Amino acid sequence: MKTIDWEYLAQHMHPREPESDKNTYGRVLAVCGCRDYIGAPFFAAQAAVRTGSGIVTLALPSCIYPILAAKLNEPTFIPLKTDADGKITADCLPPLQRRAAILAGPGLGISEGVTQAVQTIIEQAECPLVLDADGINALAGHIDVVEKAKYPVILTPHSHEFARICDVPSTEHREAMASAFAGKHRCVLLLKGHRTIIADPHGALYQNVHGNPGMAKGGSGDVLSGIILSLLGQGLDPLAAAACGAYIHSRAGDLCANDIGEFGMTPTDMLRYIPRVLKPLN
Ligand code: AMP
Ligand code: MG
Repeated sequence: MKTIDWEYLAQHMHPREPESDKNTYGRVLAVCGCRDYIGAPFFAAQAAVRTGSGIVTLALPSCIYPILAAKLNEPTFIPLKTDADGKITADCLPPLQRRAAILAGPGLGISEGVTQAVQTIIEQAECPLVLDADGINALAGHIDVVEKAKYPVILTPHSHEFARICDVPSTEHREAMASAFAGKHRCVLLLKGHRTIIADPHGALYQNVHGNPGMAKGGSGDVLSGIILSLLGQGLDPLAAAACGAYIHSRAGDLCANDIGEFGMTPTDMLRYIPRVLKPLN
């Protein structure tokens, strides 16, 4: 198993080209949020902006659109019709074409409509995909849907989400299970934890050794999925996007902890440290 370090990141991310514009850095789409989870779209979209995306579009339930629109300056928005509970359905998805990468899942909630919506996104996306949180929960019982994707898929479960989609009570042999899962379902699997592991379908296995318990707070994973979305949209291959994403996220967490401490640091604070992690690439 290889360890992700700065050299790995610098091999895969390069200085921004003088002759470039926002299209150079990816038009990415995040499908996130429901009436009861308003923070997730904020974290994912902000993380993608802070990681360098050209255009971040947030597709989210219309009932929470005004709140997010008041908080976020950079993303563009696609408000979506929902069911009576404020959750998205497959009938009201945003256009999936002409995106550099798509993230689906953070804060979507759990419902039959969300399950259908996530399956439709997997089957119809014309670009690489990141599935996180409820985008992963939606696959419980029908994980084979992942194999129907026409483009690469990255799954970013924490251990409970991973156990749920594997239909096992716990995931003790993390490396072996992650590798087997990635190979069987032909995806990149990023298994979060104190030591995050990344496995690809061809047997590559990476670990991230950075990060700290100050990151163990609601919203932290949404920041990670937004970072990975951005890297995919900037053209990194799926394995590199996942591995570099875990590294950037954890280094931002460590810089944040160094400055203000593990107890009080928040995912919102961590967003402001992503640029500092990336600054040496300039
Ligand atoms: P989630 O559970 O989806 O909010 O994701 C939590 C994020 O925080 C993951 O990226 C974890 O790797 C990270 N994290 C949580 N606890 C720790 C810890 N004790 N040490 C390092 N990273 C952690
Ligand atoms: Mg999460």
